[in-house]
Amino acid sequence: MADRSLSPQADPALVTNSFRDGTFLENLQEQKDEVLALQSIFNTEDDEKLKILSEVSEDNEGLFTLLIKVCPISAHDLIRVDLAVPTRPDENMAAAASADPLYPPFLGSNIQFNRSESGWHWQGSFSVKYLSPLYLQLTLPPSYPSTDPPECHLSCDWLTMDQLTSLSQAIDTLWNESCQMPVIYNWVHWLENTVLSHLGITDHLVLKPFMSQIEKDDKDEVNLNEDIDQVIASLVQYNQEQRNIEFCKTLQECPLCFSEKPGEHFFRMIDCQHYYCHDCMAEFCEMHVKEGTVEALRCPDRECNTIIPPYIVQAVMVPEAYLRWEQLLLQKTLDAMSDTVYCPRCTSLVIAEAEEELHLACCSICYFSFCTQCQRSWHQGRNCITDQEVLETIQNRGTTVMNKREERKYQELLRKIEEEIESRTTMKGNVRTCPSCKARVEKIGGEHFGFKHV
Ligand SMILES: [Zn+2]
Ligand SMILES: [Zn+2]
Ligand SMILES: [Zn+2]
Ligand SMILES: [Zn+2]
Ligand SMILES: [Zn+2]
Repeated sequence: MADRSLSPQADPALVTNSFRDGTFLENLQEQKDEVLALQSIFNTEDDEKLKILSEVSEDNEGLFTLLIKVCPISAHDLIRVDLAVPTRPDENMAAAASADPLYPPFLGSNIQFNRSESGWHWQGSFSVKYLSPLYLQLTLPPSYPSTDPPECHLSCDWLTMDQLTSLSQAIDTLWNESCQMPVIYNWVHWLENTVLSHLGITDHLVLKPFMSQIEKDDKDEVNLNEDIDQVIASLVQYNQEQRNIEFCKTLQECPLCFSEKPGEHFFRMIDCQHYYCHDCMAEFCEMHVKEGTVEALRCPDRECNTIIPPYIVQAVMVPEAYLRWEQLLLQKTLDAMSDTVYCPRCTSLVIAEAEEELHLACCSICYFSFCTQCQRSWHQGRNCITDQEVLETIQNRGTTVMNKREERKYQELLRKIEEEIESRTTMKGNVRTCPSCKARVEKIGGEHFGFKHV
């Protein structure tokens, strides 16, 4: 017979007076049935929307904790994302005192910034078709569904605390109307379909950086905008991934050989969005590497001059040919006085922008735009800052009063920066990871420019 006592994890506050053993078992059975049904609805071969973080055991011990990915459905083809990044107080003073130009934040080559009329913000925008998901974390008390709703926590990078609170209130109302029936599917369905219209987001979303509150009181010289940088990167990346999935599922025609194949047999260049089938791309790359004309490895479109990104070259070639390409490219770029660098976030090979004084490189894999000198987020026109300066600034921010969400974000930011410093320290000098065998290699200069395994 099943143990009828409450599990030790059960929060006593969730157990109401009307609660009796029979109801408890009925509730648990309903919860198990509901979770099973949700799994079959939400989890497909391609996508796992429901994760079970903890569950009720066969002896009815423990509580269900679920994490559900909610993908908002938009009625519009494209959603414009507008950004307002506050300018630094010292920037405004400098502008008043002199005619020096001010530099906008750099958050990827596809976002251009203009100064707002008041001068207090940089304004920029970009468009996405898919917004990154919200996460709904639910804990089911033993009194659900007979008496109490699931305890829920909703999170999303691009929504404010007020917006999240408004959504929580809306799903509370749904519970009140549900007459003690399982409610989770209704909640997710409502969120997916109504979240945008409920918040008044139709084809237009405004992002406000989390640090703006703290920034106002921050007299320090250093301004990182790390937080909004991260939000934008994840929005852009999610949108790109979803568009790729969509592309891969549909039939496409190769502009080089005119054959029609499913999109998954194509490479699509992130920068120019032109695409070519695997066979044509392999032939094209092999030919140029064999002939040593690596500088001609550009998008085959006649009007387009985009460099074929290293990950495509790597994917179509055998490792030896790829290494040969890498060495040829290093030699050529050295001759041309430009440079190839490694992305400090994902360690893939990146070709730095030709204008050398910019010290700018944009990773086409993880979308990180960084300074080739200090390896941090790009900081046009400002001097590089040291690791020590960054840590001090961030640690000073920790003394500001923060709400729970800000506190969590702050800890994440601190951890991320420490990780980056750590990974930079290990990559210091000329030691890199060999792109083909992942062993540590040393970059050697001089006549025999190339790599040597260490
Ligand atoms: Zn083709
Ligand atoms: Zn192109
Ligand atoms: Zn990268
Ligand atoms: Zn720098
Ligand atoms: Zn190797």
